[in-house]
Amino acid sequence: MQLLQNDYFKNQDLGDIHAKVCAGKRLSFEDGMTLFDCPEPLAIGALANMVRTRMHGDKAFYVINQHINYTNICINGCVFCAYQREEGQNGAFVLNKEEVLAKIDSTALTPREIHIVGGCHPKLPLAYFEDILQAVKEKAPTAILKCFTAVEIAHFAELEETTTKEVLARLKAAGLDMLPGGGAEIFAPEVRKQICPRKSTAQEWLTIHEEAHKLGMKTNGTMLFGHIESRQHRIDHLMQLRESQDRGGGYTCFIPLPFLTENSQLTIEHPLTGLEKLRTIAISRLMLDNIPHIKAYWVMLGVKQAQAALKFGADDFDGTVVEEKIGHEAGATSEQGMTRSELEAMIRGCGCTPVERDGFFNEV
Ligand code: SF4
Repeated sequence: MQLLQNDYFKNQDLGDIHAKVCAGKRLSFEDGMTLFDCPEPLAIGALANMVRTRMHGDKAFYVINQHINYTNICINGCVFCAYQREEGQNGAFVLNKEEVLAKIDSTALTPREIHIVGGCHPKLPLAYFEDILQAVKEKAPTAILKCFTAVEIAHFAELEETTTKEVLARLKAAGLDMLPGGGAEIFAPEVRKQICPRKSTAQEWLTIHEEAHKLGMKTNGTMLFGHIESRQHRIDHLMQLRESQDRGGGYTCFIPLPFLTENSQLTIEHPLTGLEKLRTIAISRLMLDNIPHIKAYWVMLGVKQAQAALKFGADDFDGTVVEEKIGHEAGATSEQGMTRSELEAMIRGCGCTPVERDGFFNEV
């Protein structure tokens, strides 16, 4: 059987990579490009599934969670963003503390993870966020608070005229448990210059995550792919994240996010195919040998493709979500939220065993 497998991968010119994967050896940049160039995506999926099975067996994780977006007003104006509004523009909003708490009241299940992110608002002071974290922690004491991307942290520091380290320490004292992975987009400066020139640089993003790790916080990483970047840019992004993890060790999960084209100023000549999304997820699993979890984010992928991703290296299905605005403004056609039994049925439907987790991936 092993011999047959070797022959199968050798026939795809993947013999050396297969040997490295079997031996648990790290893949190089060139290996990553070979995986992208291979004409047979199912072979890449099979390699990623080997690693995913070695790490997690047939488990697929999910969490009872809730997403809350506190504002869509943002000064950054990233060209790919369908979510952002100007102050005073039709549809612009800012939630106050009571409105945030009311969102938590509105759900039937007690969340184990609350994910709060928003735009970079020109005026909201750090005290607003400390107040919200304290109130949410009081209302949902068993939930892990995963809030504010590194881009928001950098923005808070600029408004407050202080350091990002100080902002992280203050938010941690107010109840922040971990950072989500948003804002990473593609690290290459030539891509950022075109799609998000006002946003934090890759170096700033990585530094803020490593500062959070030093404070004992966990974080996630993301990659927004399928816009103007090349496959080389994707591999470079994964390698920078892998190096950052080698330095700090605090990344829990990586979330490959396919770019959704609706309501965006970016015109994409060749939108991602389903197989290219799955291939990128599989390569993420293979390159990121030091990040434990890869998420199939059903909101952006759609439920059916997220199911397929569980066989292409992903092991996490995210969660109930409840209300999602950012992906849906960009054209996500998935539901707003899912129930526990729907999540479990989706996971079982692709031959995996559903395992409920908390925000830190502890099984519950
Ligand atoms: S992606 Fe984030 S930072 Fe960029 S414009 Fe949208 S909300 Fe603002």
